Amino acid sequence: MEKCKFCGSELWKNGVDNGVQRYRCKKCFKCFSNSSPKYSAEVKEKAINMYLNNCGIRKTAMFIGCAPSSVVNWIREKASTIELKKFNSTDDIIEMDEIYAQVDKRLPHHFKKNART
Ligand SMILES: [Zn+2]
Repeated sequence: MEKCKFCGSELWKNGVDNGVQRYRCKKCFKCFSNSSPKYSAEVKEKAINMYLNNCGIRKTAMFIGCAPSSVVNWIREKASTIELKKFNSTDDIIEMDEIYAQVDKRLPHHFKKNART
């Protein structure tokens, strides 16, 4: 069993991204994978900023030259490091190709548990 590289706690498997197993910490909720990141933190930051400025995931991905799913993952990673409580009062919707997921209601259960009081 892998341990969180930030706090040493147990991990959930958090899906597979481009064949790389991803993990989410049960305690601090940080996401990471074992491999060295394909894109730098700067690139991710840029992608997130583009998305936040209404660029849309597809356009952002096209500009960065990565898969739209990567952009979605980065946004989620970012979101998981920001105060989770922010999501409670908003109707933020993440556009993910043709799928529209309401962030607040469709968070994974372990994620949601922590977001609600
Ligand atoms: Zn941790």
